Amino acid sequence: MPKSKNKVSKTERNDQPIKVLLVEDEESFIEALTVGLTREGFEVTVAVDGAEAIDRFEEVKPDLILLDMMLPKISGLDVCRYIRTTSQVPIIMVTAKGEEIDTVVSLEVGADDYVTKPYRMRELVARMRAVLRRIPGEDDATVVTLDEDVSELGGIRLEPDTRRAFVAGDEVHLRRKEFELLRLLMENAGRVLTRDVLIDRVWGSDYVGDTKTLDVHIKRLRGLIEESPKEPQLITTIRGVGYRFDGAKL
Ligand code: CA
Repeated sequence: MPKSKNKVSKTERNDQPIKVLLVEDEESFIEALTVGLTREGFEVTVAVDGAEAIDRFEEVKPDLILLDMMLPKISGLDVCRYIRTTSQVPIIMVTAKGEEIDTVVSLEVGADDYVTKPYRMRELVARMRAVLRRIPGEDDATVVTLDEDVSELGGIRLEPDTRRAFVAGDEVHLRRKEFELLRLLMENAGRVLTRDVLIDRVWGSDYVGDTKTLDVHIKRLRGLIEESPKEPQLITTIRGVGYRFDGAKL
């Protein structure tokens, strides 16, 4: 795993503070987040509705957007959709409790992650740093060593050409779909993949079988790659949404 060159602060990139666009209409959240994120070293710009979010986005060119789902004028989802037509800037969607269906949609419109209110500042900042690390080619942050021949992450090494998989150097035998599923998860490490996306990409969009198939494959994968399959550290279940590969944390 790449060593961090700059352990002290990930809040700077190329010696510039990381610019966060905070899109939020609730005053109490705006205040708390502005104070908290500024203390963490981020440079915060606030937009209080969807229309302002788009204006500020074009003006400020933020490094990351925290985007509330329920907003006046233009919804968070539509703001996300709009921004994705021109930019791959990391977007974390902020949802209220009970908006689970929307969280699935938020990932489908291109958000990188989401947090549910109420959340802890520490959790939010950890998620922010995680999505910032994912930008390829930026500082030491690229977590996936991925070229055409090999992907390696969290102690797992895949060789797509030969479809061989190794855990801590020892070969494990994966069936074709298991291999494809693991590869897809690893290539998107740290990002939640919805059940639909996983089924679509591994089994094809015309797949009509039981969606339990996915869980069966995940279970078998965990049995092969996790140290303790009942307490998985690599493949995390995001209840009601999908799965996420977390090997980069190890
Ligand atoms: Ca709101």
